[in-house]
Amino acid sequence: MNPQSIRMIKDRLDFVELVGRYVHLRPAGERWVAPCPFHHETKPSFHVNPGQGFYYCFGCQASGDIIDFYARINGLDFKQAVVQLARETGVELDFGPMDPREKKNLEDRQIFLRMYAQSAEHFQRNLESNRGENSRRYLRERRVNAEMLAEFGIGWSRPDWHGLEGFLRSRGYAKEQAVTCGLLVQNEQGRIYDRFRDRIMFPIHDLAGRIVAFGGRAIDSSEPKYINTSETPIYTKGEHLYGLHQARRAVVRDKRALLTEGYLDVVALHQFGFAQAVGVLGTALTHSQVKRLSGFCSRVDLVFDGDQAGLKAAVRAAEMLLARGAQCAVVTLPEGEDVDSLLHGQGPDVLRTMISQARDGLDFCLQTIQGYSPREVVDWAGRFLGAVETEALRAFYLPRVASGLGMSELELRRIRRKPDAPSPEPSPAVKDPVRTLTAKERQLLAFAVCCPQWREQLACGGIAGVLENDWAKAFWEKLSGLGQNQDPSGFSAEEKRFFFQVLAHDSASTGREDAAAWEEVRAFLDKHQLRNRQKKMLQALRQAQNQGDERSVSELLKAYQDLAREA
Ligand SMILES: [Zn+2]
Repeated sequence: MNPQSIRMIKDRLDFVELVGRYVHLRPAGERWVAPCPFHHETKPSFHVNPGQGFYYCFGCQASGDIIDFYARINGLDFKQAVVQLARETGVELDFGPMDPREKKNLEDRQIFLRMYAQSAEHFQRNLESNRGENSRRYLRERRVNAEMLAEFGIGWSRPDWHGLEGFLRSRGYAKEQAVTCGLLVQNEQGRIYDRFRDRIMFPIHDLAGRIVAFGGRAIDSSEPKYINTSETPIYTKGEHLYGLHQARRAVVRDKRALLTEGYLDVVALHQFGFAQAVGVLGTALTHSQVKRLSGFCSRVDLVFDGDQAGLKAAVRAAEMLLARGAQCAVVTLPEGEDVDSLLHGQGPDVLRTMISQARDGLDFCLQTIQGYSPREVVDWAGRFLGAVETEALRAFYLPRVASGLGMSELELRRIRRKPDAPSPEPSPAVKDPVRTLTAKERQLLAFAVCCPQWREQLACGGIAGVLENDWAKAFWEKLSGLGQNQDPSGFSAEEKRFFFQVLAHDSASTGREDAAAWEEVRAFLDKHQLRNRQKKMLQALRQAQNQGDERSVSELLKAYQDLAREA
């Protein structure tokens, strides 16, 4: 991708504004700080330095420029992030010699996203049309107000087999494309028709606010009650949460989320002022969803039905959140009530009280599994403790689980086994090359990173000869290649991390301090060079002595003494 376009995108974006869409930043001198959205914490370890164009977390070392941030928080790769931000900033991208298949995929994605956006509008128009009376009545009975209809973009798909198909054709889209992105279905006979018929349509947004899927709820008693978009090039099942796009700001602000099950439950919660409510899509919460949600807040309150299925789902959700180290509390609704009926029937204060008195997640799990068979209890304990992310966290849970189940910790340790699911993310590389640097190497490289104006002098002063560590040498090579520029786009992930880490830690100094630091570095480099010359001279001296070359010996000896005086 053209570096100029990338520079232009960066220039047009306001780093603080963009990050502020996801986390609550507050100013601290030239920097802005917040609790990190990429790991659990309450301290403001996350720093944004808009002047120098990077962010850095002192807790988890997440770091990068504005595009890296956008990519990471939205789960995009670098290229996808550039494409989105280019559109936002109105920068034309020249992909140059891009892999044609990749280019096609990228173009297809754009088409699919447009199709979803236009389909959502189409469904909304359906709802408002004369034929939409039935669906409007249904939503009226569920007491969804107009503001929520608009906020969540709720619509209706007509009972026709070729309603959306006709609409998409009128907009110039090919049927095959609509099949690929899951809006239409093709049966074995090759017939193509609408996937969603006579359903209330709930658009599902990604974190960038684009519609990537739909959930369709039957209005009458027809089965299945819910149909969701299947896996498509723009939608991966189990990654998104319903309403997170709408709830994100409140979740970040309050550092807590409310997790429930149905679409209309989420809408009702928002309607009654629970703006941090999000919904599980489909039945069971997934690891990706937990990761996504716990990236935004440290506490999740679960509001689930009180029937057997609801309890089971709540245990599963709670154990996944706890395993990740999030705080979690559980509200189970009285049997026969759902969120919707409770809010409309008894008002928001009842739910608010229930949430404030909610049971701690682990206590809830331990109590609920009392009703399981011994085999299931043992399985549960093994699965839960096996899934807990760190040893420290496990040590924290172990005594509570043991006493809750009436077992000894020793017995519990014995039944602990590996989790069924693969560990959700690889642990950071154990062999961090930065750790192999000597203190001096780190200091020199840090100076080189923070003071680009001295890089040339560093090169002349012989820094390359001082660095012994291979990683340090390679890093210096790349750094000196930047000249005075501070854009480490071509660096490896490790090199970038080191670069931003150093900038975040060391760059608050003034110009005068830089000059003083340079004097210190120069003295060190000079001394090092001197020592090298002495070493070489001693070698030559020894050689001359061995060869009995007395004239050389006396000359070298004199030169060596001069050098020693200089030092
Ligand atoms: Zn962090």
